[in-house]
Amino acid sequence: MTSGNPLRAALVPFLFGGAIPSEAPDWNALGKRWWSHVEFLADDALEGRDTGSRGYAKAAEYVEARFRAAGLKPAGTRGYRQPMEFDVEEIDEARSSLELVHGGSAKPLRFGEEAMFYLTAGAEESVDAEAVFVGYGLAVPELGYDDFADQNLKGKIAVLVSGGPAAMPGPIKAHYQWSYERRRALRRVGAVGMVRIANPKSIDLPWSRMAASRFQPKMELRDPGEDAPAGLPVFVYFDTDRAERLFEWSGHRFREVLDAIEHDRPLPHFPLGARIRSRAAIRRSRVTCENVAGVYPGSDPALKDEFVVLTAHLDHVGIGAPVNGDRIYSGAMDNASGSASLIEIANSLKKSGARPRRSILFVAVTGEEKGLLGSQYYAAHPTVKGTMVANLNMDCFNPIFPLKYLEVQGLEESTLGDDVRAVASGSGIRVQSDHEPERNLFIRSDQYSFIRKGVPALMFGLGFLPGSPEEKIMKAWLAERYHAPADDLAQPVDLVAAAQFNAILERLTLRVADADRRPDWKPESFFRRFVR
Ligand SMILES: [Zn+2]
Repeated sequence: MTSGNPLRAALVPFLFGGAIPSEAPDWNALGKRWWSHVEFLADDALEGRDTGSRGYAKAAEYVEARFRAAGLKPAGTRGYRQPMEFDVEEIDEARSSLELVHGGSAKPLRFGEEAMFYLTAGAEESVDAEAVFVGYGLAVPELGYDDFADQNLKGKIAVLVSGGPAAMPGPIKAHYQWSYERRRALRRVGAVGMVRIANPKSIDLPWSRMAASRFQPKMELRDPGEDAPAGLPVFVYFDTDRAERLFEWSGHRFREVLDAIEHDRPLPHFPLGARIRSRAAIRRSRVTCENVAGVYPGSDPALKDEFVVLTAHLDHVGIGAPVNGDRIYSGAMDNASGSASLIEIANSLKKSGARPRRSILFVAVTGEEKGLLGSQYYAAHPTVKGTMVANLNMDCFNPIFPLKYLEVQGLEESTLGDDVRAVASGSGIRVQSDHEPERNLFIRSDQYSFIRKGVPALMFGLGFLPGSPEEKIMKAWLAERYHAPADDLAQPVDLVAAAQFNAILERLTLRVADADRRPDWKPESFFRRFVR
């Protein structure tokens, strides 16, 4: 125990039912309180909390009221709120087309069945360009790896498979696949578009579900700050199972590519012998939405302007294509759960009367499902004066079985990993690092917005062992409920696991807030590059 607070050190064994069981917290009661927030936020009345929607506004009101009740001080630009503006793009498919053109003939691609547009602010109405297969489409200077080196991509559309070679470290693979990095890399080599085929090794959303989401509005920040995206005229997702179509005139088969992926051989690069012609009818509009921010002030005059930032995204994907007659994507786990944890951690701090040395900033962010936009806006336009020294993010932590393992994204990257190990070891919980690096989770949620500003960060979820019943439960959850209407209040949840998760997060937060030294990236961490 290194928190330097003897009172808190004495309380630790009780937290997880140590020496005196009668003093152990009533996990079930705590879990029920946490669930009561989920019940409000994931109710059908909130219509899936889409960014900019009525439902989101109700959710923001709720969180603001709970932050206030927990004694957090307003930390937005208007009270607890931090409004921001978004550009919105929606596709009108009836007036759009996508064709493969070879010789004199144009073959239409079927929206939803084979392909879909992924709209961005830089999307253009009309593009007609040669298609080139570029393997994983990665350029990683620090590893001397470059999928573009042997190709001229100027004015062409890059067709690529997501993922990367097995030997490439997970964080590097993840970083260079991030949408902004991809778009910049493609623009650098002069490409005018990309067609992305999902790597069968890392599909976590089946094509049907992905295709069903294609009418949901896409958004980008009007004021992203310095870290602005490059515009890419056309961006298409292609179904892995239908991708053979793209290779018809290339002299290659997509099967060869799949085989190379399967056996981890380098992927070939070659022109596809066809052009891709796209006509995208885009409806553009604007919308405003808000982050909700509150602060639990630190007590040390020298450290109170340093902030440990707890985040969870409050938005979800709203109303969409019906599944079994249900159109409301309630997002109970994704991420009413993490938002509820923000509230409960704030409540618990107030109740305990903790006096952390550093300040603790709570931010419920919007726009995560649109590409980490609310957190990006916060990181670019922080509302507190001082330094953000750590970000602890909770997104879809899935308390759907008992908490025995805590999976931590970014565990090996910063001293925060040592902190979480120390906190967990005292509570009989084992810590695991990301066991599915192909899913890119460390850059797929809001912590990445802070990482890109140099702030050490972690993200958390319930872990499990390979081959365990818990792994089966998690896989089934991803297949049936992730980004589906079934991620709702009717699903099984482990209230005790949720309450224990919140307790670990609270202890970790306090440990970081009280430490003599602020967290730092490990010297060898890839993510240290963002520190200025
Ligand atoms: Zn999500």
